Formats: sequence, structure tokens, C-alpha cells
Amino acid sequence: MGKDTGFLEYKRKNNGDVPPKERIKTFEEFHTPLMTEERRQQASRCMNCGVPFCQSAMNLSGMVTGCPLHNLIPEWNDEVYKGHDKHAFARLHKTSNFPEFTGRVCPALCEKACMCGQYGDSVTVHDNELYLVETAFENGYIQPMVPSIRSGKRVAVVGSGPSGLAVADELNHRGHTVEVFEREDEIGGLLMYGIPNMKLDKTVIKRRRALMEAEGVVFHTGMNIGDSKSVTERKTEKASKTVTSDDLLAKFDAVVMCCGAKKARPLPAADPEKIGGVYYAVDFLTQTTKALMKADDVTSDALKKQGGYIDAAGKNVVIVGGGDTGNDCIGTVIRMGAKSVTALEMMPKPPVERAANNPWPEWPKVLKTDYGHEEAIYLFGDDPRVYETTVKSVATDKKGNIKHIETVKVAFKDGKLTEVAGSEKTLKCDLLLIAAGFIGCEDYSADAFSLKRSPRGTVVTEDGGYHIQGTKVFSAGDMHRGQSLVVWAITEGRACAKEVDEYLMGYTNL
Ligand SMILES: Cc1cc2nc3c(=O)[nH]c(=O)nc-3n(C[C@H](O)[C@H](O)[C@H](O)COP(=O)(O)OP(=O)(O)OC[C@H]3O[C@@H](n4cnc5c(N)ncnc54)[C@H](O)[C@@H]3O)c2cc1C
Ligand code: SF4
Repeated sequence: MGKDTGFLEYKRKNNGDVPPKERIKTFEEFHTPLMTEERRQQASRCMNCGVPFCQSAMNLSGMVTGCPLHNLIPEWNDEVYKGHDKHAFARLHKTSNFPEFTGRVCPALCEKACMCGQYGDSVTVHDNELYLVETAFENGYIQPMVPSIRSGKRVAVVGSGPSGLAVADELNHRGHTVEVFEREDEIGGLLMYGIPNMKLDKTVIKRRRALMEAEGVVFHTGMNIGDSKSVTERKTEKASKTVTSDDLLAKFDAVVMCCGAKKARPLPAADPEKIGGVYYAVDFLTQTTKALMKADDVTSDALKKQGGYIDAAGKNVVIVGGGDTGNDCIGTVIRMGAKSVTALEMMPKPPVERAANNPWPEWPKVLKTDYGHEEAIYLFGDDPRVYETTVKSVATDKKGNIKHIETVKVAFKDGKLTEVAGSEKTLKCDLLLIAAGFIGCEDYSADAFSLKRSPRGTVVTEDGGYHIQGTKVFSAGDMHRGQSLVVWAITEGRACAKEVDEYLMGYTNL
């Protein structure tokens, strides 16, 4: 423990935020780092606990709290306090392949379990992590690590989201020859086309790609793995080349499927195929990012000039779903100049503080007011979220475009969600975004390898592992776990790589 009294002397101080008034003009990241001295003070708040809950990933009351990667948090906090950034980064990198992703987008399961959070404010683990990895890049501590010996084994990874990238990174460093197949024009999965720029600038993913390429990983973009007949499921991927599963199985010693869980939960009252102005959130966010990548810069003005995306300017927008995706849609439509934004959430409003039956260090089931909510409150004066409400029906104009929606209150009765009679309301709506979650992996990718699915739409593997029995196929990330978090995708990717290595070599030292 660096400073015995750090947690008593210094208050928690987060990275700064550009105020909503300024940041909504651009899709740029909006967090500003602390001065180095302040960062060291923040790191000194860590008590180096004998039993560090922050790095434990315990399952308490059905939810995980603490870091799934088991990051060596107290060790590197101590090193940051002492100014040993290079060594601190080495300890962080030992358990985490891509701290630059988690340091930006992780909801910080570690901080929820931090001992300091029991009576006061937890340590700024998330911001300390981002400081460390960005300092490491700036100072050249991160250099390509090319394996000196190759094993002669070839591995295909399908899907380049955080799980696929983690599998590829681990197996490449182990000396296997790794090729990653991605149907999109850029790698990164939902990091690239899902999570918006203001949360994760896309140059961060390109920087990682360049590093992995220098280390020997081969990326094939625009390559769709699966039966071309079923590719109609993915209208946006028309330009992709199709590679069959037989090709991969013939050319590679192992194939790892990391295709995500992109099958969106439908909204029965509003089918995007039938009603104009209704879209699934990820399609909306993807088009925005693709347009921004072609634009001169990432300002709202440059996006408008670029065009070629689903525009929310001047529209009354309704977003169905109150999670991360819903919040990202709010932030995005605000930057486009939406006239109004309402977010419908089926669940009741959570409490502001932990309830008595949800004590520390359990995952706190409390109200989270994210950046998009803050911006909506600044711009429109109100929290955009309406709880215990869903869409009952949709009315369209003569051209079949959405005009308004009828909402209805819902409540749990005998464990079932039921409509509250007489609670219907009409709401103007020119753009409806469905952010109601995901119901598993897309069928065509799994069908390409005849992969069995669970009732949750996830790929079934051997108990507690990632291997698909009797095959040379493995699966990890959201495709295997179901809709989750970046940190879990990386955790699964690392664990899966270990199994692949053992399968290929008969033992593993990963
Ligand atoms: C809008 C949004 C915001 C989010 N925000 C956060 C956040 O703030 N923090 C957080 O921790 N998590 C967040 N998540 C969740 C997180 O992004 C995912 O859990 C994570 O990306 C899953 O990683 P993955 O590698 O398993 O799959 P994905 O990231 O989904 O990647 C799968 C990849 O496989 C490719 N693919 C699929 N099928 C094929 C095929 N047949 N051939 C070739 N390629 C294929 C896809 O194109 C995709 O690139 C968010 C999710 C969304 C949708
Ligand atoms: S629980 Fe908090 S105070 Fe304790 S070691 Fe982890 S980060 Fe430091």
C-alpha cells in the first residue's frame, strides 16, 4: 500500500466531462484526463485490501461484482501512486488485452465492489486504467510483440468484436498463425459499429488493429462466413464475399466462432420491415458511424454534410429500451438535432440509492443517469425516460411512415407483464428506434457449422467451456454467453484461447 492515509486525505475525483452544451455539437469523446499529480493521488486512495473484492468477480445474488478479468488492481494502483507507470502497465496488461476499450466503455464492475465504496466513494479504477494504457501508448511502452517461434498450427477466428480480438491476440502471442474473418468493412464488432464515437473513438480500434497486424494477425474484412443463401438475413452485408464453413474447416486446425448476439428483440407493435421510420438501434448507430468515418471530421455539421445515414434532425424520436444501447441512441439523436426524445422503459424506475436487500458489494441496482440522459435533461429540461411503459400500437401516414404511437403502462401481475387498462397515451413520433435487447446469435452464422443453440439463442458448448464436442470448432463472447459486456467478451476470448491452445498442443501455458 503506497499511502496509508490516501483514502482519508483525498476525495474521489473522476476524469472531467466537457459540459453537455459544448459536447452535443460533436461526436468526439468528451472525457478530459486529470493532471498526473491528481491521478497519482487518486491511485493512492486504494487501500491495497487483503481481500481485494475489486478483482474478484464474485457472483452475488445472481449478478457478478468485481472485475471478470481479475485485473491486479491494487498492485497497479500502488505503482501508479509511486510513479512507476511502465511497471504498472505491465501488471495491467498481464490480465487485460485491451485496456483502452474497457478503460473507455466498461461499467467498472470493479468499482462497484471496491471496499472504499462501502462507506464512501470507490477508487477511480476505470479512469486509472485508461490513464495507464494511454500513457503506455504515448511513451512507447506498447510495442509489437512478434512471437519468435511459430507452432505451425492455423486458427480461423470468425468475428472481430472484443471476444474474437482477444482470442486472436492470445493465440498469436502463443505462436499460432491466426486469421480473423469479419463481414463488416472494419474490425471491432460492436466496438466499431454499435458503441458510438463519443464513447469510443474509432481511431482507438484502428490503433489496436495496426498493432495486432504488426504482430502477425491477419484480418480479412468484408468476408461473410456462412451459406450465401441465408445471407439475406443481413441485408447490409451485400458487398461481403461469402466463405463457406467447409473452406475454413479444410484450411485451419481450429475455428473459433465469435459472431456476437446481434439478433434484435423485436417490438411486436412496430416492424421495421413494414413501417417507415422504424429501425433497430444497432442499424441506426452503425449507419451513423459509417457516415462519420467518411466525413471530414466528427462534428454534427460534418455528419450533416456527409449524409447517407438515418437522420433524426427536427424529428420527434422515441427509443424503446432503457439500457446502454438506448442511452447511446439518445446521445446520437441529440447530436443530430432531434426535436424531442423520449425513452420508454418497461421496468420500474430503480431507486437512487441501494435498497436494503441490495447491500455492498453486490452489483448496485440503482438509477444510472448516463451521458445521453444528462444531455437530454440539459437540452429539454426533463429526464427522457418513461418507466413501466411500452408501445401498444403505431399510426402511419399515407406513405406508411410512422406518425405517432400509442403507449401503454405495464405492470407485473403474477410474474407476468400485463397492460394497465385505461393508461393509453398518444405520443408524436417521426423516428422509432428499437433498443429492446438481443435474443441470441444470428442463425446463419451458427447454422454454417451446424451449431446447436440453447433456448436463449446462444451456442451450446461443452459444459463450462468453449469447445463444441466432436468438432474443431469453439465459440466465445456474446455468441456463446448471450448479450453482455466488452469485459466479458475479452474474458471469454482469453479463456477460449486457452482451450484452443490445449486442443492444438495437448497442453497449454496460456
Ligand atoms: C449500442 C451498444 C452499446 C454498448 N455499450 C457497451 C458499453 O458501454 N460497455 C460494455 O461493456 N458493453 C457495451 N455493449 C455490449 C458489447 O458491445 C458487447 O457485449 C460486445 O461487443 C460483444 O463482443 P463479441 O466479440 O462477443 O461480439 P460483437 O462485438 O457483436 O462482434 C461480433 C462480430 O462478428 C461479426 N460476424 C457475425 N457473423 C459473422 C459471419 N458469419 N461472418 C463474419 N463475421 C461475422 C460481426 O460483424 C461482428 O463484427 C454495447 C452494445 C451495444 C449494441
Ligand atoms: S477494493 Fe478498492 S480499495 Fe481495495 S484493493 Fe480494490 S481498488 Fe483498492
